[in-house]
Amino acid sequence: MEFLDPALDDYVAKSTTAEPDALHKLNRETHLKVLQPRMLSGHIQGRVLSMLSHMIRPERILEIGTYTGYSAICLAEGLREGGRLDTIDINEELQPMVEKYLALTENTERIRMHIGPALEVIDTLEVPFDIVFIDADKINYINYYEAVFEKLRPGGYIIADNVLWSGKVIDESEIAEDPDTAALVEYNRFARADERTENVLFPVRDGLMISRKKPL
Ligand code: SAH
Ligand code: CA
Repeated sequence: MEFLDPALDDYVAKSTTAEPDALHKLNRETHLKVLQPRMLSGHIQGRVLSMLSHMIRPERILEIGTYTGYSAICLAEGLREGGRLDTIDINEELQPMVEKYLALTENTERIRMHIGPALEVIDTLEVPFDIVFIDADKINYINYYEAVFEKLRPGGYIIADNVLWSGKVIDESEIAEDPDTAALVEYNRFARADERTENVLFPVRDGLMISRKKPL
């Protein structure tokens, strides 16, 4: 489901800075060779993630759900001098493609890919994060939020993708029958009710929930 009228969506794309060349190629190769290419963030959301990262100027970013590396490369664009992004994916088959495209960007040295189940890898990462981008299995979104919370600096951000789930989050029969829809509804409710954060659900593409950890 597209939330915006296609002509308006087109206008939004035209009025937004174009995809950098390496990302354009990565987008195309993902569509040609990888299963479920719709999972890739794409032009507009990629530029949104890059813009948010430039606004925050993070030193450390954690991404949960690398896929072919598109969103990692976008988020890394706003890293501060000396900063670094850690990204986790359970699917090791993706690694060669991620590495190929990282080599085409300026941020090769600043991005580290970890292979494994995210909850296990998160346990091995110390150091406070400024941004955590949650974009892996929807069932575990609340677990990811809880697992990273103490590793997020006060004033840091948790950004969760696909929280509108093509609009299914307001469809009672989907909520009853589809575990991913139910998990995302639960996530949105949980984040909204958490007194430790301020939350805004941005209706960008498939929905981005941005939670800001209140300063102590
Ligand atoms: N962030 C990417 C898209 C991520 S797609 C982008 O915007 O371009 C979701 C990814 O989560 C898939 O690559 C999948 O392999 C990964 N994933 C699913 N379950 C996982 C788990 N338990 N631990 C780590 N990664 C997982
Ligand atoms: Ca996503």
